[in-house]
Amino acid sequence: MIKKFVPSEICLACQGCCRFKNIDSTWSVALLDSDIKRLLRHNIPPALITRDKRVALEPAKGEEYFFCSFLRRDNNSCRVYSFRPWECRLYPFLVQKKDNKTFLAVDLNCPYARSRFRTIDFNKYTLYLRLLLNSPRYLKTLKSNPHIFQEYAGTELISEINI
Ligand code: SF4
Ligand code: SF4
Repeated sequence: MIKKFVPSEICLACQGCCRFKNIDSTWSVALLDSDIKRLLRHNIPPALITRDKRVALEPAKGEEYFFCSFLRRDNNSCRVYSFRPWECRLYPFLVQKKDNKTFLAVDLNCPYARSRFRTIDFNKYTLYLRLLLNSPRYLKTLKSNPHIFQEYAGTELISEINI
């Protein structure tokens, strides 16, 4: 479990997440193997999980975005919130690949992260994440899910993860 950085009420009022510009967006949710097992245990239709281990996106008529299949667009909430994927819990932080190394990064397109970037609270939280992600348990999980390491444009790298 990862402690939340952005309060839920801020996210519910924001439309920055869960929608993507392209159907094959790098930013769409990549799933750990344990996420897939958990989603299937909760009777999520397997068709909503793509072959490359992502949550399927849905096109919407007249909209410029593709939506996560689990987004409730009437109230901007997540249908699977209590068992949502690991990447959704981590965002606006990300595990990022760069030059054959792996980093903890932050997406400053998130207005909450941007407004707190490098504040004391931000630095405390990133220290917590750095320790968590470098713990033996997390390193084991990350190593066995290499498909989630991706390159993202426009993020700020915070620290290397020693995988
Ligand atoms: S962009 Fe940031 S504030 Fe907005 S929904 Fe996403 S995590 Fe929450
Ligand atoms: S699973 Fe939930 S939190 Fe994650 S992108 Fe989809 S709607 Fe958003």
